[in-house]
Amino acid sequence: MTRLSNEGTQVTLRWNDGTSSCFHAIWLRDNCRCSHCGEPSTGRRTLRLSQIDLSVTLTDARLVQSGSGECIRVAWSDGHQGEFGTVWLKEHAYDARSRRMKSFHPALWTNGLRENPPSMPFEEVMTADSAFFDLLNIIKNHGLCLVDGASASPGTAEKLARRIGFLQTSNYGKVMDLIADKRHRSMANDADPLKPHTDEPYRASPPGILLFHCVEAGEDGVGTSTFLDGFEAAETLKREDPEGFSALTRNNQTFRRFFDGDVDLICEFPVISTDQFGNVCGVRVNDRVAAPTCIDPGQITDYYRGMKRFLQLSEDPDRMIRKILEPGDIAIFDNHRILHGRTRLKFRGRRWLQWVQVERGDFYSTLRILSDKLERNKDARPLLRGAYGSQTLNQ
Ligand SMILES: [Zn+2]
Repeated sequence: MTRLSNEGTQVTLRWNDGTSSCFHAIWLRDNCRCSHCGEPSTGRRTLRLSQIDLSVTLTDARLVQSGSGECIRVAWSDGHQGEFGTVWLKEHAYDARSRRMKSFHPALWTNGLRENPPSMPFEEVMTADSAFFDLLNIIKNHGLCLVDGASASPGTAEKLARRIGFLQTSNYGKVMDLIADKRHRSMANDADPLKPHTDEPYRASPPGILLFHCVEAGEDGVGTSTFLDGFEAAETLKREDPEGFSALTRNNQTFRRFFDGDVDLICEFPVISTDQFGNVCGVRVNDRVAAPTCIDPGQITDYYRGMKRFLQLSEDPDRMIRKILEPGDIAIFDNHRILHGRTRLKFRGRRWLQWVQVERGDFYSTLRILSDKLERNKDARPLLRGAYGSQTLNQ
């Protein structure tokens, strides 16, 4: 059923499930999908907003059956006419309920998942699309997947990463080596434990999907890798201390990384990013690279209390997956969600990890393309935005 507003500024559609969505005349005109205007969902449309009168209204809107199914046929005050399939309209509805349904909520880690972390065999994910699809979905939903049975030779992580997307390059390089050697002690192979953290929060765009591959592990596995769900920790903080949580989502933390004459990265983003409904969609956790906090003085007390508790939660052993990476093991995780660290190095031998990174947008693109190829349900939503700041709560 359709109902056109008196002024023709919008039309309301009542769906079979009893709910309804309204569509504005300007939105419909802007998204007209006729052969003249182009298809607005492919990034190749021909109609441009500069050609549309903002005061355009609907002069008619009616439900009709066309060759391609049920649709509404509309006419605008500028003389143009168009048709919109109701299935397409339901998919693109933007009322509060529809927007909420479209927001993606990944599964938070449970004790069951920590005790039995998701893992996939390397050979299968490299050779079978269906296994590779499963791997990508595990990362999408749980933020992390272990891959076992790979060769220990350098370059293995790069092969798998290229299947996921393009490799990101930074001042650290493209394929990075993390070598800790008792014969060559230096700052770079500090034996001290590394607290769980996300990598490079001082970048405007921190690394997306990280792959850690163990090439050598000394005699008996020096240093246990730790992984922790930053979203679960953030949701726990939200339950325990809503004001502290809110302070971490609404105020920016300044981060800085400075190497004299080489790199001087500074940025400001909240430690916890939330989507338009207040759900956590990204974290930046690494107080080692935090620069002096510069926020509203009235927020300092809540901010420090929230931050201290969030860091405590992110160091809680009961929240961690602990895994000794053996040669040939790969850990893949979303750096905008999962914190990683390691226990103290024992320095019995050499520990060599190779790591590579893929941009998150490419990761989701590969997942969608593979859904089409395998004829699985495609998630056409813009998935987790990442740690790029909080959206205004405009519901
Ligand atoms: Zn048109």
